[in-house]
Amino acid sequence: VFNFSPGPATLPEAVLRQAADEMLDWHGSGMSVMEMSHRGKEFIGIHAEAESLLRELMGIPASYKVLFMQGGAIGENAIVPMNLIGKTGSADYVNTGEWSKKSLKEAKTYGKVSIAASGEASNFTAIPKQSEWKLDPNASYVHICSNETIGGVEYHWTPDTGAVPLVADMSSNILSRPIDVSKYGLIYAGAQKNMGPSGLTVVIVREDLMGHALPITPSAFNYKTQADADSMYNTPPTYAIYIAGLVLKHVKERGGMAAMQEHNRAKAKVLYDYLDQSRFFSNSVARDDRSLMNVPFQLRDAALDEAFLKGAQAKGMIQLKGHRVVGGMRASIYNAMPIEGVRALVQYMKEFEQQHG
Ligand code: PLP
Repeated sequence: VFNFSPGPATLPEAVLRQAADEMLDWHGSGMSVMEMSHRGKEFIGIHAEAESLLRELMGIPASYKVLFMQGGAIGENAIVPMNLIGKTGSADYVNTGEWSKKSLKEAKTYGKVSIAASGEASNFTAIPKQSEWKLDPNASYVHICSNETIGGVEYHWTPDTGAVPLVADMSSNILSRPIDVSKYGLIYAGAQKNMGPSGLTVVIVREDLMGHALPITPSAFNYKTQADADSMYNTPPTYAIYIAGLVLKHVKERGGMAAMQEHNRAKAKVLYDYLDQSRFFSNSVARDDRSLMNVPFQLRDAALDEAFLKGAQAKGMIQLKGHRVVGGMRASIYNAMPIEGVRALVQYMKEFEQQHG
């Protein structure tokens, strides 16, 4: 089966097999990872290895803390402003679609939020050019969503926000390509797309940005408190961290970020090339801003959506239904989706087009 879910999403088979092998007895400890104390030496080792692999793969500088938290990226929509907006009381948000809208709406509870730029005029099919951004030099941070999982737009460049820290929701494209972490003040991501199962939220935060939390910030969501406790102020999502560690090891063995980028570009090209020449299927995102992770596409006749999904399911291609906001289909093709999955999808699309076009 090829699983095109936007998240929780398909995981590398080798990782699932290893987890199954180790399920009842992790490395002769007599325990499942689920049964380990987070303060025991076994789990501390698992936790440290996952962090060190993430640091190595992403090239995270020593001046950044890596936090393994709970609450998801939607939790971070509140946790980020609670921790960072207090510096000046305001923040800039770039609105590129559904996920950035959610982020900026939530942030308004905690301070003054300005929309520095918006993709609304293009119905969120393009990322506003940096030259159109109106940045406030006194903002505490500038927030972007680096890949809009629903709309299928992705930044293929890093915004320059000067001295104001750049904050990115990277939930759906973290680990998909090399990035320069030093250009960001803070990166957060729910793990359930490219990194592992749901339940784990990764936060990568420059040390000097911590320590300005609003007094209302719950201790478990205070970055400084969690950083000082090595993410163990409260019980971390232990099993999700363990699986993320296996995924990270797998990604490293496959060649790391440069190899992922090549793999993801090749996959996306197969699908976009087909969409671009088809008169039956279409994708409306500006070419320069197309997501390599989430590819929404429409059938010329939406009345055929159900038949398309049913036929795909019969061929072992599942979870292709698009988000209700954009309708149609969406193929999420994260790191763990093999190119064979995308080729099989395109083959099926060709057949469907021949039949119904
Ligand atoms: N941000 C982005 C870009 C997402 O794709 C998602 C998807 O689930 C979320 C935020 C929400 O994350 P969570 O459900 O883990 O809170």
